[in-house]
Amino acid sequence: MRYSELVSIYDRLGATASKLEKTSIITEFLKETPPELLDTVPHLLMGTVFPSWSPLDLGVGPGLVYDAITFVTGIRKEEVKDLVREEGDIGSAAEKLFQKKAQTTLFSETLTVEKIRASLEKVARAEGTGSQDRKLKIVAELLSNAQPAEAKYLIRTILGELRVGVAEGLLRDAIAKAFGTTPEVVERAYMLSNDIGRVASIAAREGEEGLKGVSMTVGVPIKPMLAQLAPSMEKVLEDIPEPALEVKYDGARIQIHKDGESIRIFSRRLEDVTAPLPDVLSRARQAIKADRAIVEGEAVAMDPKTGRPAPFQDILRRFRRKYGVTAMVEEIPFEVYVFDCLFVDDGAIIDRPFRERRQELEAIIEPVASFELAVQLVTKSLEKAEAFYRESLEMGHEGLMIKNLDAPYIPGARVGHMYKIKPVMETLDLVIVGAHWGTGKRKGWLSSYVLGARDEATGELLPVGRVGTGVTEEQLEEFTNLLRPLIEFEAGTEVRLKPQVVVEVAYQEIQSSPNYESGFALRFPRIVRLREDKSPREADDLDRIRALYDSQRSQG
Ligand code: AMP
Repeated sequence: MRYSELVSIYDRLGATASKLEKTSIITEFLKETPPELLDTVPHLLMGTVFPSWSPLDLGVGPGLVYDAITFVTGIRKEEVKDLVREEGDIGSAAEKLFQKKAQTTLFSETLTVEKIRASLEKVARAEGTGSQDRKLKIVAELLSNAQPAEAKYLIRTILGELRVGVAEGLLRDAIAKAFGTTPEVVERAYMLSNDIGRVASIAAREGEEGLKGVSMTVGVPIKPMLAQLAPSMEKVLEDIPEPALEVKYDGARIQIHKDGESIRIFSRRLEDVTAPLPDVLSRARQAIKADRAIVEGEAVAMDPKTGRPAPFQDILRRFRRKYGVTAMVEEIPFEVYVFDCLFVDDGAIIDRPFRERRQELEAIIEPVASFELAVQLVTKSLEKAEAFYRESLEMGHEGLMIKNLDAPYIPGARVGHMYKIKPVMETLDLVIVGAHWGTGKRKGWLSSYVLGARDEATGELLPVGRVGTGVTEEQLEEFTNLLRPLIEFEAGTEVRLKPQVVVEVAYQEIQSSPNYESGFALRFPRIVRLREDKSPREADDLDRIRALYDSQRSQG
């Protein structure tokens, strides 16, 4: 399939805000897509290349894209940057530059979706010394054969910002329409396989029956069920017929997949973190008695000196560690508390009530030191619940979870089967979309950050505030190092960033604001910590902010 066919679909999608129209454009397009490309095209429509859990990652930043444009067009980098500033994004600027170039160059090869898929896979697989050079060559080769509009979308895809407003929901509806089934059936297959391309392929080849047969696979992580903030302990205890309270451990969520001798551990972002966690691996091997199982738990970093949970940053250091893993295991020992079971020998059990899943968990786990069951208390008594809460806080834990023993497990959803109670005001996880260069003492540092939240309807990240205070000098350095490679362009002291970094933000209040396109502004925002465990897709969206805003208002 020619890439230009996909490009004309991008143009049409970008030109309409109507969800219905977008859905019908995608529906028609999917029907015409050759079956062997259906595993890729849905990803490309969303502006991604691989399924989220795939170990493949392009690892290309704006800097490399600038180099590739300069290499292909022969235009000086400064000139390219000026145009990017004017146009507002690298993709649109490249389109203009390529239009100029088009008059002088003959394209040697027609770009196809197959070619782009193969090339981007090579980019993702390039590792080790000289890999940046190899990536640059591949990207430059693609661009040298690109028509202007193709260059625009290719660059946006590589940078992870397609901006044509296609969210998962749209694609789900379109797949259902194109292949004669319901959005619910598609959604369920997607939930279990976590791969929208695979879902589209199965829908085309095997129809509804095929989709219904999609099941969880040990080794393919599924999105974790999410917790809701409890309105109050009293209300939740009252609403849930049989509530199970659990200690809320202050660590990072992990999903452990065991298939005989093979055990893989995935992070909340569905990254494979088996290699950096040999200690968890060997304990899981001892503790999990079932031959095949998927269990979920929290990995807590214990400070050996105080015996209390260590900062979250320490956990992430361990998750990311590639070398010197053994030393790290000693420096920051992990303790794991398992709290759910999604799969046992005979198959997936997510549809069964939590009561039964917990029983399965207790049946297959033989606790060993540092690999235990989450402490649970089943009660409807407010008094007992409060005592349990106090105790868990005193032990240095984060708070409480209150779960519905009658509820199934719904991957990726925040549906009120699981509540959390923490002593602080709810924070927001937001994406840094811009920054500005500091002045005076902060000269040379990116020192004030624009926070964005996703508009679920369009997939766009809209600003909800700017945060500058509460950042220490050390953090300034850390943030600058982290953000500098993400700079897309600069205008004066303002810089626009590739949205990649998620931060947890505390604030005093959410205000409605005509100044921001999002309609909201955070009052006195303050960065609590980096959330490197979260991808921008998992950050809080505008719906969440709207809900918090509403609850704020109803409270008074
Ligand atoms: P939050 O990240 O604040 O939305 O809180 C939800 C997270 O708490 C989950 O994703 C888990 O990582 C963590 N957690 C800690 N203890 C438990 C528990 N007993 N049950 C479920 N989640 C827990």
